Amino acid sequence: MTNTALREQTLADLLPISDSKDYWARAACKGDPNHEAWFPYPSQDFDYARGICAGCPIRRECGDFAARTGQSGVWGGHEYDRGKMIRD
Ligand code: SF4
Repeated sequence: MTNTALREQTLADLLPISDSKDYWARAACKGDPNHEAWFPYPSQDFDYARGICAGCPIRRECGDFAARTGQSGVWGGHEYDRGKMIRD
């Protein structure tokens, strides 16, 4: 996989399909082209990602998944660092 291919992936692409493909197919972020918005720098707000999460039907489950599996980035409308919520 090239670096270009990595940049073109969306968050939904990165979600583990083994955790139920149909489940994640409902993700509001699926196909979102602004990949970097889901992994903000500490000084950067994440209003864009938070706004998409606000309308997501699996928001709560997404946050639970991030905490349970040690994810980083914006999940369920919150920012996580290795499974720990660092921004509400
Ligand atoms: S809650 Fe946010 S990060 Fe999680 S699947 Fe929905 S849109 Fe994506």
